[in-house]
Amino acid sequence: MRQATPRDLAQWFGHFHAPVPTLLDATPDNALIWGDLHDLRPITQYAFGHVALLGDAAHATTPNMGQGACMAIEDAVVLARCMALAADQPAQALQRYQSLRMQRTHWVVNTSWRLGQMAHWRNPLATALRNTAIRLTPSDNIIHKLHGVQLEVA
Ligand SMILES: Cc1cc2nc3c(=O)[nH]c(=O)nc-3n(C[C@H](O)[C@H](O)[C@H](O)COP(=O)(O)OP(=O)(O)OC[C@H]3O[C@@H](n4cnc5c(N)ncnc54)[C@H](O)[C@@H]3O)c2cc1C
Repeated sequence: MRQATPRDLAQWFGHFHAPVPTLLDATPDNALIWGDLHDLRPITQYAFGHVALLGDAAHATTPNMGQGACMAIEDAVVLARCMALAADQPAQALQRYQSLRMQRTHWVVNTSWRLGQMAHWRNPLATALRNTAIRLTPSDNIIHKLHGVQLEVA
């Protein structure tokens, strides 16, 4: 796979909707970027005294839910609000930020990882069950949970 060229990609994905075939045709060999995906266990500390991690540095996730950048933006909002409320006590503000963000970011990282594992199933019976279960799962469930992000800082 690492040796794949745009021509190989055009063979595999050339039947996709526009503008995918056009983009593949227009891609020179040296423009392909290979990025490995690594599974990282969620860490349990984002705040370290006067230093805090946010975004991928705190909770890098597989891209199966498309939430990595979203969570980085959520972190930034919550962090700014925590700092605004306790600018004279930065260590406490960062602890507050950590406690407000840990549960949600862990949920996304773990759910995204599980979805990625399921997406790679090969057993025909398992994939048929998976596809049926996904079809029957109301999309409102996960959307509702994603929309339920807590950005308020009391
Ligand atoms: C295939 C794929 C698909 C994705 N799809 C989605 C999606 O649909 N929706 C979504 O929300 N997210 C998606 N993401 C995730 C998203 O790209 C990341 O979660 C997001 O970019 C994280 O932002 P960040 O600012 O934390 O880190 P980064 O974007 O990695 O930014 C960190 C920056 O720090 C710089 N840097 C590193 N070290 C140093 C240093 N020592 N000094 C100075 N600068 C340094 C880096 O060059 C980089 O610019 C996807 C990711 C992948 C890989």
